[in-house]
Amino acid sequence: MDHSSSEARPVKFSNPLVTVEGCPRASVKLKCLKTLWFNTGTLCNLACNHCYIESSPTNDRLDFITLRQVEHFLDEIQREHLATEEIGLTGGEPFLNPDIIAIMAAILRRGFRLLVLTNAMRPMLKRRSGLLALQKRYGNQLTIRVSIDHYREELHEQERGKKSWQPMLDGLAWLSEQGFTIDVAGRTAWGDEERALRDGYAVLFKRHNIAVDAYDKKRLVLFPEITADPNLPEITEDCWQILNVDPDAMMCASSRMVVVPKGEQRPTVMACTLLAYDQQFNLGHSLVEAAGTVQLNHPYCASFCVLGGGSCVVTE
Ligand code: SF4
Ligand code: SF4
Repeated sequence: MDHSSSEARPVKFSNPLVTVEGCPRASVKLKCLKTLWFNTGTLCNLACNHCYIESSPTNDRLDFITLRQVEHFLDEIQREHLATEEIGLTGGEPFLNPDIIAIMAAILRRGFRLLVLTNAMRPMLKRRSGLLALQKRYGNQLTIRVSIDHYREELHEQERGKKSWQPMLDGLAWLSEQGFTIDVAGRTAWGDEERALRDGYAVLFKRHNIAVDAYDKKRLVLFPEITADPNLPEITEDCWQILNVDPDAMMCASSRMVVVPKGEQRPTVMACTLLAYDQQFNLGHSLVEAAGTVQLNHPYCASFCVLGGGSCVVTE
């Protein structure tokens, strides 16, 4: 006998306004566009297991952004008197973008703080002279964030592939020697206690003379895992109070990300750095259009932001 119902069962994360249980879905208003991210393109020299944007040497779903496209948004920030203080560049690997140094120079010239996420490998080191010129001129207005998944080589390489450790260390050591302001992005994926993780990174930094304080949470940022597990709970409006989480602390309350979908002439503004492809989170072509409310209709909203306590982009 067939016991199946003819009506399809509602599934989680489908209706942007209500959860599967019929409760009002949580949403986040843009409070102030403090940080604007640009995705520089999805191509990467690596293809890491955990890469939430699925970057690789062949993934070109997001095109390289051009200097002209970046300047268009910087103009909008200034024309609209937006309170944006910081620009972030993420990828893929940003240093593969042919315009990267010109883009960085344009951002710094206008007085923004700039954070660039990188794996610090060969593509970055090929830009040494351009980077040094920017560092000399703008000093700590520029921060380079290097991803080190774990302080143990074998765990980093488990994610990033064989021979990914030493080139990263070479790049990191070069940045440190040259006096760049450096952040490190680590991960909590292996379940270590935070103190033990920080101790491990501290030993690594000391051994290689890397000028990063592993106990400073702003310098060594430890990110929770991003997972799209369909069993995750959906976040309702009541959850803010139940979980004692402030909606204004979500990335989408203070940032947006500009992407260039392959083959499209105009960049689009996405709600946050984590959701580069999902068209529900495409908020339009300008920062003014993108200044609305975001419905938290994705498992990443639950896993990384609300339950994981993550903020800021996880990796390059
Ligand atoms: S995690 Fe970073 S380095 Fe690894 S594939 Fe993704 S963008 Fe590239
Ligand atoms: S993933 Fe996080 S930052 Fe992005 S829309 Fe969801 S809650 Fe907002």
